[in-house]
Amino acid sequence: MRFEIVTIFPGFFTGFLENGILRRALAEGLVEVGIHDLRAFTHDRHRTVDDRPFGGGEGMVLKPQPIAEALASLGIEPRAERAGTVGTRVVLMSAQGRPFTQAVAREIATLDRVVLLCGRYEGVDERINTLYCDMELSIGDYVLSGGELAAAVVIDAAMRLLAGVLGNEASSEFESFGAADASITTDTEGVPRSQHGAGGLLDYPHYTRPAEFQGVQVPETLLNGDHLAIRRWRREQQLRKTLANRPDLLRDATLSKEDRKLLGEIRQEGA
Ligand code: SAH
Repeated sequence: MRFEIVTIFPGFFTGFLENGILRRALAEGLVEVGIHDLRAFTHDRHRTVDDRPFGGGEGMVLKPQPIAEALASLGIEPRAERAGTVGTRVVLMSAQGRPFTQAVAREIATLDRVVLLCGRYEGVDERINTLYCDMELSIGDYVLSGGELAAAVVIDAAMRLLAGVLGNEASSEFESFGAADASITTDTEGVPRSQHGAGGLLDYPHYTRPAEFQGVQVPETLLNGDHLAIRRWRREQQLRKTLANRPDLLRDATLSKEDRKLLGEIRQEGA
């Protein structure tokens, strides 16, 4: 899969591309990332990418022409003339976008090519959105100074879902916001995995050696090798954490009868 980033700060992505899983995925050719300097598509001496807003008000707006030319250089036509191009999407990073979630990351990971447009200043001339963009994505309810961090977030979350990118294929399946797992009541074999049978809950807490750190012990259950007990403990922790930090997720989570009972008990404790 290939990402194309359109930005006025191409240098921003240097560290991002050179570390961790993404570095390896790039080296192995599982992911490609093209970075396109918006200023290369200007024609004036000052390489101007922005202009004052019609209607007045604060700040500057990214002009449509350099962005349209950057897209043309990538072979991307306005949407109306592009009906036949499957597998390519143009995404505008925007605080006004639809929320970027794990489900959207999964959707993006199925595409062949994704173009990410990074705004700056007050944003991008809306005609770019109207004419070229297939989706407008926000990474959260806060305002960043530019779309670059948001584009990096989208690439990071999507690329780790691609086949072969994570060492352990199962690791992305069983974590927070993982695909709802229908087998929570039936799959009781083997070592309980990360977010095993998550069904839309947050992940459980993880521990590694040493067994005691600054006077705090690893929970006893994790040390005794009883898989069923470990599974139960982890599930309870997921319920506790989700109830404490993200009670909104419980509404859509896949909960077993036992989960509901546990939740009731946890709620009782709090009352
Ligand atoms: N005036 C805009 C904010 C512009 S911030 C507003 O009030 O909505 C400048 C750029 O940063 C935006 O064009 C967008 O590309 C990026 N950006 C800011 N917040 C973002 C967010 N939460 N998600 C994705 N991109 C964001």
